[in-house]
Amino acid sequence: MTQHKSIAVDGPSGAGKSTLAKLLARELGFLYVDTGAIYRTVGLKAYREGIDPEDGAAVTALLPGLDIDMKYGGDGLQHMYLDGEDVTDSIRQHAISRYASCVSAIPAVRAFLLDRQRALARENDVIMDGRDIGTVVLPQADVKIFLTAAPEDRARRRYEELRQRGQEADYASVLRDILQRDEQDTSRAAAPLRQAEDALLVDTTGNSLEKSLGVLLDTIKERLRA
Ligand code: C5P
Repeated sequence: MTQHKSIAVDGPSGAGKSTLAKLLARELGFLYVDTGAIYRTVGLKAYREGIDPEDGAAVTALLPGLDIDMKYGGDGLQHMYLDGEDVTDSIRQHAISRYASCVSAIPAVRAFLLDRQRALARENDVIMDGRDIGTVVLPQADVKIFLTAAPEDRARRRYEELRQRGQEADYASVLRDILQRDEQDTSRAAAPLRQAEDALLVDTTGNSLEKSLGVLLDTIKERLRA
């Protein structure tokens, strides 16, 4: 069996993980796996069912019947399906971010998704982004990156992204949400967001996309050769 390569990219919301990981995957010929999208899909299910995302028992009760699928479209991008419907765009709604963050703190939800994520890395060369990839999901990853940026920079990027999608947003509330999600993601007991000891810290504050991409690509190529 060939041993596949894996790259873990973790960090807080809005650090540029998905944009950069997507570009890196294309450059390296790896599969890009956005694990946040999977948690968002679980969050969307809770939202649609009218379930309080902080109600661990109610969310856990959803899991056995949860019909979530992931497919790679002709565009090479990861599409998420919920109950057979393509929800790739719906999971990006502002309201779903909070739902995703809440359901992801529930240990049963994390356990439910762990094997799926590991299976993808067993079967493909992957670049996987999330919060706990280097620490929990793929502790043996060939390269680990912890990507971060100042909260104000991250909020500005999220704000611009939402506006580009035609969604209502105001900067102050996006910043407030980012800070709240940082707090939620780092303080939870189950797989909290933290930098793996062997992860390389990359701070993208003030950097252009091209600059960050160049830094990451050089680092990754060097580490994959080592
Ligand atoms: O990355 P994204 O913002 O789409 O993730 C949505 C939420 O899912 C995050 O706020 C985080 O709470 C959760 N998440 C997680 N573990 C991952 C990926 C995302 O807990 N590996």
